[in-house]
Amino acid sequence: MRRKIVAGNWKMNGSKDLAKELVGCVRSEAEALDNGVEVVIIPPAIYVGDVVEQAGGKLAVGVQNVGQWSSGAYTGEVSADMAKDQGCEYALVGHSERRQLFGESDELVAAKVERLLASGLTAIVCVGETLDEREAGRAEAVVASQVKAALTKVAAEQWGQVVIAYEPVWAIGTGKTATAEDAQAMHAAIRVTLAEAGAPAESISLLYGGSVKADNAAALFAEPDIDGGLIGGASLKSEDFVSICRAM
Ligand code: PGA
Repeated sequence: MRRKIVAGNWKMNGSKDLAKELVGCVRSEAEALDNGVEVVIIPPAIYVGDVVEQAGGKLAVGVQNVGQWSSGAYTGEVSADMAKDQGCEYALVGHSERRQLFGESDELVAAKVERLLASGLTAIVCVGETLDEREAGRAEAVVASQVKAALTKVAAEQWGQVVIAYEPVWAIGTGKTATAEDAQAMHAAIRVTLAEAGAPAESISLLYGGSVKADNAAALFAEPDIDGGLIGGASLKSEDFVSICRAM
């Protein structure tokens, strides 16, 4: 009953050529997949139009970030309504790179979630602890507080538009993946937090992200509370990304 999702976060990578080659290839493979997985491509905003065109309605498309305002004098920003207008269905919010490099706070993440949901997009809310926090035994507490803070403005009828991505910061782009057991334990804990926050925890999809590759995806996806993946580096090569979609 939970949506199974494999989402590719290109970060600040890609080109018109990649949009054409990779999305075309993933699209034809995705059409042949019969495992019920929703494949989402999340390119830099400037390539969303190219990706939507190549996806041809067979793949979902998302943006990596939106501004917290609806419109106006905010040079350089892209709004949730614009993403929706261009054919996006998803948006990342609170990715650890935005939190660390752009100083995004829990309050800002909550404001962006509110804006995304109001625009009719599905928010993929990213949470995760740093290595220091994990070594100090605080991983679950940190993640629980990020989840709760991000979801303070979700209305009862909007839970169907919420997806959580657990991405331990120490696993992102490092080649170090959480073990399937550790990832499962955190996902189960997130479900408890969601229930405490008044969410229909059993129906919310929880994705794992952080150095997911073709050779570790199946073990992660086999865990009962892992409903898919948020893939960075391995989403830039069609062969790798397609293998991960197949592993779901
Ligand atoms: P990675 O990135 O797969 O390259 O570790 C994941 C992410 O940051 O979403």
